[in-house]
Amino acid sequence: MYASGNYTDQTIADFINQSGIKTRKGNKWSKDTVTDFLQNEFFYGKVAYRDQLWPGRHQAIITKELFDRVKEVRAKHAVRPRSHLAFNKLRRVSLLRRIVCCSQCERPLRVQSVKGYGYYIETSLYRGKDCVDSHARVRMDVMNRLVFDLLRNVQLPEAWQKDIERMIQDMDVVRKIENRRLEIEDELRRAGRAFADGAFNEDDYDRRRRKLISEKDSLVVPDGARAIEMGMQLETIGDFIDEATDDEKYKILHILFDAVYYDFGQKRLVGFKPHAEFVPIFRLAAPLSGWSEKEGFIFRTFV
Ligand SMILES: [Zn+2]
Repeated sequence: MYASGNYTDQTIADFINQSGIKTRKGNKWSKDTVTDFLQNEFFYGKVAYRDQLWPGRHQAIITKELFDRVKEVRAKHAVRPRSHLAFNKLRRVSLLRRIVCCSQCERPLRVQSVKGYGYYIETSLYRGKDCVDSHARVRMDVMNRLVFDLLRNVQLPEAWQKDIERMIQDMDVVRKIENRRLEIEDELRRAGRAFADGAFNEDDYDRRRRKLISEKDSLVVPDGARAIEMGMQLETIGDFIDEATDDEKYKILHILFDAVYYDFGQKRLVGFKPHAEFVPIFRLAAPLSGWSEKEGFIFRTFV
């Protein structure tokens, strides 16, 4: 919001309070908490952890550039008019390319433009596959909104940083992760042999394989500083996503998600699969954010 130049700290505080969001300590937002929040260096990938400033060891979600833009606007207090043209262009940009999947068959939806609007379309039948929702489509801007809402509603528990430290120090967790990885490699070999012997058809084999690989990918022993960095970014991403450029939005969404699952019948997101390194932090956020975890580290957004 701030980067658009159309808001002051006070109007942002009012807006946040109206939407019922509390600060991490459960208080109302003031002009000053907004100021602190926008100037905090955590948001573009630097983390104060054990009193040191750690440079982001991965691609920061909120780029230095977006962070600086917020700062620049603060300095100038410039008012940049919203361009109608830019808005129309944004609607056609496929920010979730290769990420949005059909919840019925789990295949990715394809991008298509119809009368100037971008859509994600179920194309199973065109590809000689079967799905009850084949040919169904959802507008891109509607889909973007659903995913941004998901990010805005991420809630981490108050003591999530301690939870992460505990998780890393727990050798049982580490051993379980390593054992499950070995089991999965075994299951993959068995499924491959069964397919070669004709016990599985191609679709069943594909699905089984995808599920196992997806679970294996997410079985990572968490790295403490990194997980904490991820958490800090995840905590604040909802506040930045609206003001990010299309390019930044695209990057943010592709860093965070392997897949989001759209249900054409219910017209909503029913699940998502975070990128492997975000699994521990999404798992901590799940209870308060209203998600439940299912097999293969896919999170269900509605139970
Ligand atoms: Zn489908």
